Amino acid sequence: MSFVIDPPRQPGVAVAGTNARFPVRRIFCVGRNYADHVREMGNDPKSEPPIFFTKPADAVVESGAAIAYPPLTANLHHEVELVVAVGKGGAGIQAAAALDYVWGYAVGVDLTRRDLQNNAKKAGQPWDAAKGFDQSAPVGALMPAGKIGHPRRGRIWLSVNGGAKQDADIADMIWSVPEIIAALSRSWALRPGDLIFTGTPAGVGPLVAGDAVACGVEGLPELGFSIVRDG
Ligand code: MN
Repeated sequence: MSFVIDPPRQPGVAVAGTNARFPVRRIFCVGRNYADHVREMGNDPKSEPPIFFTKPADAVVESGAAIAYPPLTANLHHEVELVVAVGKGGAGIQAAAALDYVWGYAVGVDLTRRDLQNNAKKAGQPWDAAKGFDQSAPVGALMPAGKIGHPRRGRIWLSVNGGAKQDADIADMIWSVPEIIAALSRSWALRPGDLIFTGTPAGVGPLVAGDAVACGVEGLPELGFSIVRDG
């Protein structure tokens, strides 16, 4: 069997402490999962079940990347998030068993064209252009759960050019990792290689060309990247 064009390269992310890589199948993201961020976006934290959206697998970029400022926006935003890597497939997973499906954890940034997202919300249109653009998913090196367990609390932070922008604790998530996996797997059968971005705390804000971003979750390798002028 041969393909009529060259098949796409398999997207992947680094695994801390090894040359082996984790293959990325799909990227799911949770919206509105920290009460302070839900409030800063003008919504009520307790009013809705988790909402999910996706990014293409090849939107992933690794630590150290120079990310081109994306087209069609004048308001690119950072959202630092705990990222869950799924190692075992399943559907209708119970929260009590959900951590068995987790291979590891990383820190990621859900880059967002906020102006396009605000326009889409007003017009009742989908978020794909706001969330799923090229290079919109920087992810740091993965730590295997077999090494560090399953973090339930710990500082999550992001700085731009050394200035603190986001600083919170993953214990403040409205829906925990097991609850997210349970809810997500009712809608999609999860597969090995899926990544789940678990939502961002307050302090989201703009990035411009020339900015250097650093971010982390306690116990996980830091993620750093820069924004460069397109073209
Ligand atoms: Mn997000």
